Amino acid sequence: MGKILIQGGTVVSATGRSAADVLIDGETIAGVLAPGQAETFGVTAASDVRIIDATGKYVVPGGVDVHTHMELPFGGTFASDTFETGTVAAAWGGVTTIVDFAVQRTGESVQDGLADWHAKAAGNCAIDYGFHQIIGGVDADSLKAMTYLVDNEGVTSFKLFMAYPGVFYSDDGQILRAMQNAGESGAMIMMHAENGIAIDVLVAQALARGETDPKYHAFTRPAALEGEATNRAIQLARVAGNVPLYVVHMSASEALAEVAEARHRGQNVFAETCPQYLYLSIEDQLARPGFEGAKWVCSTPLRSKHEHHHRDLWKGLRMNELAVVSTDHCPFCMKDQKELGLGDFSKIPNGIGSVEHRMELLYQGVVNGEITLERWVETCSTTPARIFGLYPTKGVTAPGADADVLIWDPDGHTSIGLKKKHHMNMDHSAWEGFEVDGKVDTVLSRGSIVVEDDTFTGTKGHGRYVKRGLSSYLV
Ligand SMILES: [Zn+2]
Repeated sequence: MGKILIQGGTVVSATGRSAADVLIDGETIAGVLAPGQAETFGVTAASDVRIIDATGKYVVPGGVDVHTHMELPFGGTFASDTFETGTVAAAWGGVTTIVDFAVQRTGESVQDGLADWHAKAAGNCAIDYGFHQIIGGVDADSLKAMTYLVDNEGVTSFKLFMAYPGVFYSDDGQILRAMQNAGESGAMIMMHAENGIAIDVLVAQALARGETDPKYHAFTRPAALEGEATNRAIQLARVAGNVPLYVVHMSASEALAEVAEARHRGQNVFAETCPQYLYLSIEDQLARPGFEGAKWVCSTPLRSKHEHHHRDLWKGLRMNELAVVSTDHCPFCMKDQKELGLGDFSKIPNGIGSVEHRMELLYQGVVNGEITLERWVETCSTTPARIFGLYPTKGVTAPGADADVLIWDPDGHTSIGLKKKHHMNMDHSAWEGFEVDGKVDTVLSRGSIVVEDDTFTGTKGHGRYVKRGLSSYLV
């Protein structure tokens, strides 16, 4: 591989922006140079350096999406993106690293679950990938396996569920034991924080009343039960000895308030939200007539637009109570998949597909004045890399880092949706008709151009498994 010079752009990081050229040598960034400096190093168009003109564009570290579910088995079906289709879609959206969730279900071994995920992903990914491990059954064997994965497999974060009894659910005692284990190995505990035991009662009662439409998915998962579970997880992490806790897919103001309080106490508590919780609502999407609302059945659920969750989540992003925006990409088609829940909302596979659109949707937050340009980079790339042990290989434009680069055109425009030919393997889009400012211009993954001139130029199998270290973002 030769050298590439990205010339004339504005390099934007989590902490500022400046006019600079980015020199890439092979798979890594060789230098971030003041304009004109490249020539003093003998880098010219006449030399063996490919020049990419980034005049008028932003040059930012490629997106890091730390919450995806390719091929996830759920509710009798599988998430519709494979590692191949999902990582191609991610690349189209300026994402150069995903961290997906390997699954251990109750009764299975952790190592078998991780091996399954390696088998699904190996040789199929267009961009780099890492794994978190879902622990679906906390016992002596899985606790031992957690330590082994941290020490040997580059898996340094473990997801537990306070929801989905009988599938992934852990009780409070199991959660405490897993947290104590993580405290010893230095790992991060990720939590799906909803009170699943109480939710199951509400679901059964709703169905008994004949309330079967998709909107009842949200009414049976009230914000109070997200807030309660978030607080319980925080207190358990506190008792376990200030063990690092990362609350996933936060949708409710009540949960955000618990995280803010814990952080003010100095606890190692972090949270993420997703684009759907910043833009979509029960009223505008989930409660649409008939079965259409099934497109927006996800957990945690969309919330009411009259309860200020959107406003509070954007504020949380500014205040760093929410450190990360991920997607929780978990796509299901309407046909044969979401349709499993016709006549019973509780059988609708939970998930929304967004891996392609996170950078676009959050850039619209910059345009709307919700977050700064730097905060866009920080929440979508730099902080996720730091929290999950990928930094400074990923998440930063600096010498020695992987040459994962997104060149962003602020004067461009993006129309989102299936009708606009999105690249996710879905028969609909949760974002159909969304029009946003800005556009993905060029994407590089470890020095290889994977998107350019509205064309995917990457290759299946280019993406490598990344062994992750411990978090470098603790209090
Ligand atoms: Zn998820």
